[in-house]
Amino acid sequence: MLEPQSYVAGAWVPPDTAAREVLSPVTGAPMGRAGSAPPDPAHLLAHAHAAGAALRGMGFHDRARLLKALAQYLDARKDTLYALNPHTGATRKDGAFDIDGGIGTLFVFASKGRREMPDGDVYLDGGIEALSRGGSFLGQHIAVPKRGVAVQINAFNFPVWGMLEKLAPAILAGVPAIVKPATQTAFLTEACVRLIVESGLLPEGAVQLIVGSPGGLISALGPQDTVSFTGSAQTALTLRSMPELVASGAVFIAEQDSLNAAILGPDAAPGSAEFGLFISEAAREITTKAGQKCTAIRRMIVPEHHTGAVIEALSAKLAPLIPGDPAAEATRLGALVSPAQRADVVAQCGRLAGEAREVFRGDSGGFGEETGFLPPTLLHCADPDGARDVHRIEAFGPVATVMGYRDTSHAAELANRGGGSLVTSLFSADPAVARLITLESAAWHGRIYINNAESAREATGHGAPLPHMIHGGPGRAGGGEELGGVRGVLHYMQRTAVQGPPGMLTAITGQWVPGSAEDVKEPHPFRLHFEDIAIGHTLRTPAREVTLADIEQFAEFTGDTFYAHMDEAAAAANPFFPGRVAHGYLLLSFAAGLFVQPDPGPVLANTGLNALRFEQPVSPGDRLWVRLTAKRKTRRTEEYGEVAWHATLYNQGDARVAEYELLTMVAHAA
Ligand code: NAP
Repeated sequence: MLEPQSYVAGAWVPPDTAAREVLSPVTGAPMGRAGSAPPDPAHLLAHAHAAGAALRGMGFHDRARLLKALAQYLDARKDTLYALNPHTGATRKDGAFDIDGGIGTLFVFASKGRREMPDGDVYLDGGIEALSRGGSFLGQHIAVPKRGVAVQINAFNFPVWGMLEKLAPAILAGVPAIVKPATQTAFLTEACVRLIVESGLLPEGAVQLIVGSPGGLISALGPQDTVSFTGSAQTALTLRSMPELVASGAVFIAEQDSLNAAILGPDAAPGSAEFGLFISEAAREITTKAGQKCTAIRRMIVPEHHTGAVIEALSAKLAPLIPGDPAAEATRLGALVSPAQRADVVAQCGRLAGEAREVFRGDSGGFGEETGFLPPTLLHCADPDGARDVHRIEAFGPVATVMGYRDTSHAAELANRGGGSLVTSLFSADPAVARLITLESAAWHGRIYINNAESAREATGHGAPLPHMIHGGPGRAGGGEELGGVRGVLHYMQRTAVQGPPGMLTAITGQWVPGSAEDVKEPHPFRLHFEDIAIGHTLRTPAREVTLADIEQFAEFTGDTFYAHMDEAAAAANPFFPGRVAHGYLLLSFAAGLFVQPDPGPVLANTGLNALRFEQPVSPGDRLWVRLTAKRKTRRTEEYGEVAWHATLYNQGDARVAEYELLTMVAHAA
């Protein structure tokens, strides 16, 4: 028997009299029970708050390292999760989207956290805003972790991914999570939470689990809390309109069902590569997870004159896909999550029958209605303009409706009739079609997926939400936005506009802001190891003259004989130059020569430069000097870290001629 337990305030709580019987999707017989009396919200929240303090005691990179270690820990033990996976009705391949997909999402957030967030505890949103003429009063948007909890309510279809895709950004932000999975598949989420707890990697309380009803938790939330919900539009509406939640000021994010579409381009005739791709993708979307994917294609929008060809090709592709035991290696179409879910899908198909005629139904595999098995079903809607339900009713199973369009704008219009969806895809080789569809329908869709012969081998799939890209959609899809790299992390953070003198911004952000005090001192900062370099440590170099001979030699040596460097009259006629001027790259090279510390030392390499601007021309006879200030430090490996330097090049009149951020790798002290 499967008896998933809640994990509340450091203790495992078994099912009790409040438990619900859970039926097997394969046999229809009882396979477990789940749920216990709702935990005391105050107890849950206090425990989470303690963990929040521990998480905030670390920086983004520390938490990113924890996520990576956690991903590795789960990856090494994922067989435990795969062993339970068939009890959700999912095949091994379906399970990979859930289990490996979830672990992969942790890895991506771990990596993005270290590449795109600072090695500190303040996230900078955008650059410095100049709020004053003299530069003594500046603005910077920052983001810091919220002081609350992330309550994450998840749907039944992705018990592992559904949790990890929300947990990763919350932990990276520094916010503890209380996870409430769907009761039917809570046993798989519980197994994953057990591994997380056993790993000991996260501070105790960073993850708590409620199997069954959350009781009064939602009503007990406050303005620093976030509820991130995934599930049906109906439940989302119930939750988001709870008066206590509305009054609390907690943020509510919803990812709900949507009537996603796939459009076959007007150029993609039968026999074309794009037609073939459309059919393969459509068949995959109908059958993966037995169609129980929030992103699955529900509406297939195809050129009117190709409707018959699409139905024929798709039926042929679906015919061999017969439902079977999800635990068997060869099975390609598993079961819906429960007999009840099967009944729900059958009922929804019945409601669609008035507008869409069934044109294909696969072999049932001999399974009856007491199980979760359902064959793939294709409907055809002959009047998509007059229809309402095909754009509204989600049959959350292996069901899709084909409908014809007259022209490209009509295709976009039909896709938009879903009232807001997670994803619409387009199969076309015509860039003009892609632009038209995108501009006419992007406002209605969270993601637009375009595939054709060029991308076919590497395209990631219509239905796969990627951690790098936002997942969510407007209107009917819930209006939420998850994933999308750091965008997803910011849900759990507060953005604040900080205004003040440069030195204050440096102190707050940990990154040197121009205008702050410079600490010009010995030794040369390139003589210092990573840990000994202080933010603000500045080098001011002596000046060197830039001569006409230097410019000509550089031109001859590099081949850059652009007239602005070589022809006095032509250069003077150019609105940017007073006459012949030095190459910008010559100035950068001279700058390197001015600030270099030539002997072997802690600086290992110059790995790049950012945000280079040439601000003023340099003429022969001008004298160039450089100010170099340690701006930002980022730990990279055991051996070295990255130091970003704010480099400014000046002329003899101390006018700024160029500015950039120089990146170096600097060794740690032995
Ligand atoms: P659901 O019935 O709306 O349930 C979703 C979650 O809400 C479950 O954990 C459920 O717990 C919980 N819940 C229900 N009533 C609640 C209440 N009053 N207070 C607190 N929690 C409550 O949806 P589902 O049947 O699990 O999932 C299928 C739907 O989710 C489909 O429509 C699908 O399109 C959608 N979905 C959307 C996305 C997306 O990212 N947009 C992803 C996956 C699925 P119990 O199980 O205990 O009732």
